[in-house]
Amino acid sequence: MGLSKLDHLYRQVILEHATHPHHHGALVNGQKAIELRNPTCGDVLKVELVMADDKVQEVAFSGTGCTISQASASIMTDEIIGKSKEEIEEMVTTFSKMVTGEAIDDALLGEAAILEGVAQFPARIKCATLAWKAAYQAVNLEN
Ligand code: ZN
Repeated sequence: MGLSKLDHLYRQVILEHATHPHHHGALVNGQKAIELRNPTCGDVLKVELVMADDKVQEVAFSGTGCTISQASASIMTDEIIGKSKEEIEEMVTTFSKMVTGEAIDDALLGEAAILEGVAQFPARIKCATLAWKAAYQAVNLEN
């Protein structure tokens, strides 16, 4: 598969997540919630989650924003379920490195590794990292 075809495939997956986001909405029993804004683009994301036994049991996000911010939030919610606070912190750090062009172990990120191409679009980095920063802050909130 040529590189352009690969990019095309990733674009399709990103569009699919943005159009039909996973875990979109609110939790009735959300314990930890953080709302973050990316003023440079106008993205607003609220991430809510429920932790039990040091693992994320449930997560949801709401808000509005560009395709990259919505797709990244949708993928993030898929990837952090079942993860501990420490695992999520490592994932967020790894994700931030990836979208700023640093070499990473993409096995840590699961499907989120498809957002690697964001590194080519510096104006979109904050869009991609917004949901992950919100997740990082949410897991670190005191109950
Ligand atoms: Zn954006």
